[in-house]
Amino acid sequence: MELNILTLCYLIASVTFILGLKMLSNPATARKGNLVAAAGMTIAILGTIFLYRDQEGNKLHNYIWIFGGILIGAVVGTLAAKKVKMTAMPEMVSLFNGMGGACAALISAAEFYHIYKAHEGAGTTPFSDLVPVGYYITIVAGAIIGTISYTGSIIAWGKLNGRVKDFSFRGQHIVNMIVLALVIVFSVVAYQSSIGSIFIPFMLIGLFAFVYGILFVMPIGGADMPVVISLLNSFTGVAAACGGFLYDNKAMLTGGILVGAAGTLLTILMCKAMNRSLANVLIGSFGSNAKTGTGAARQQGAYKEISLSDTAVVMSYAHKVFIVPGYGLAVAQAQHACHELEKILESKGVEVKYAIHPVAGRMPGHMNVLLAEADVPYEKLLEMEQANEEFPTTDVVLILGANDVVNPAAKNDPSSPIFGMPILDVELAKNVIVNKRSMKPGYAGIENDLFFQPKTSMLFGDAKKVLQDLIGEIKNL
Ligand code: NDP
Repeated sequence: MELNILTLCYLIASVTFILGLKMLSNPATARKGNLVAAAGMTIAILGTIFLYRDQEGNKLHNYIWIFGGILIGAVVGTLAAKKVKMTAMPEMVSLFNGMGGACAALISAAEFYHIYKAHEGAGTTPFSDLVPVGYYITIVAGAIIGTISYTGSIIAWGKLNGRVKDFSFRGQHIVNMIVLALVIVFSVVAYQSSIGSIFIPFMLIGLFAFVYGILFVMPIGGADMPVVISLLNSFTGVAAACGGFLYDNKAMLTGGILVGAAGTLLTILMCKAMNRSLANVLIGSFGSNAKTGTGAARQQGAYKEISLSDTAVVMSYAHKVFIVPGYGLAVAQAQHACHELEKILESKGVEVKYAIHPVAGRMPGHMNVLLAEADVPYEKLLEMEQANEEFPTTDVVLILGANDVVNPAAKNDPSSPIFGMPILDVELAKNVIVNKRSMKPGYAGIENDLFFQPKTSMLFGDAKKVLQDLIGEIKNL
């Protein structure tokens, strides 16, 4: 009976995960979706703690350890989530993803240890005679993928917060492949080893997977980081699904598969958005052209500035205005002022829309979340392809703290590190006004030709202050 209730708990949890994921696809329901999935996870955890029985019918008993761990995790997680700034969210996601990978790897290690303990006396019997190959592959896959996800995510976290610098060397590509090959070789060796000598090859699997995770992320340039984080996220999902198989835990299995599948889909979409092939991501080689590209060093001509009052006039008398939000808008926390500008322009009969680049900001969906926070209607947010179609009929594009996502070097300069990344073709509009604080480059660290084009005018200053002043000017017209 208790077992059936536990199965029901897992079923409820699995359904809430799917519902939650579906609700996350729209900013209006995303918050609720998160809570629905969290409620399902709570049911699965409590069900496991109080109703789970092992094959001998034993219940879990080490409640102090279990609830001690839950309490520490809950306190740390709550404080971190409350403290983190929106712009530092990708770092936190990366760090927590790494923790998930480590947990999945530890589950595999614990399962391996259980088998080892149970057959300790078997001496020279090969491990392959004791454990079916499918079960072994699940253990090893969980350990390898979880470990790679752990070290890779920690490096990604360090890169995003500036503690870890890009590092690459000639032939790194080959070294990466060799290390990965060693992981596979020792996985085979461990399976053939006797129970008495399996520890060393098993440890070597973990060690090389640990090193591979570092080598894999280390050379990747900043502008390609979103793809990597999303990929590591899918790794953690797959590793957790392996844990679900090992413990025959349906909630863990469903959760892991959903995270793995969602992460993989997101990775493919991000690859498309940044024009990278998935194979290129997997062997950890991209971003390297950032070091050879000449885009960063090119001399630029003169740029022209525009005053607030002129901006107010140009925008007020336009028929159609596009706002392109970027990372700087999030830094300035100017989303509410931005929405106010949109409303005041609309009250003057101007059509206002937003052009959203898939990697604008510092995490997937960053701009959607930011604008949803200020209650900007979702239907005003146009994806890159739609916006690009509408730019030729647009009078003014106002760029707020965006840089790389509007850099024409992605189309015109094969030596640029962002060459090939689809961008917002803002230069097709009649006028382009760029708000940022200086001429400094964006995340990819390269100059932007757009700022020097005849159609473009620079409106310098912090996005929030500029928007507030601009609203004042428009009101006074
Ligand atoms: P960028 O980082 O290219 O540019 C942001 C610009 O905002 C800067 O040039 C900066 O210029 C300006 N800025 C900063 N603070 C302010 C402020 N207070 N007011 C006004 N302007 C400000 O941002 P984009 O959104 O265009 O591009 C995102 C980049 O981040 C891409 O390269 C992407 O690959 C990368 N990335 C994206 C992730 C994602 O998942 N979305 C994750 C990790 C990286 P100045 O200093 O002169 O003000």
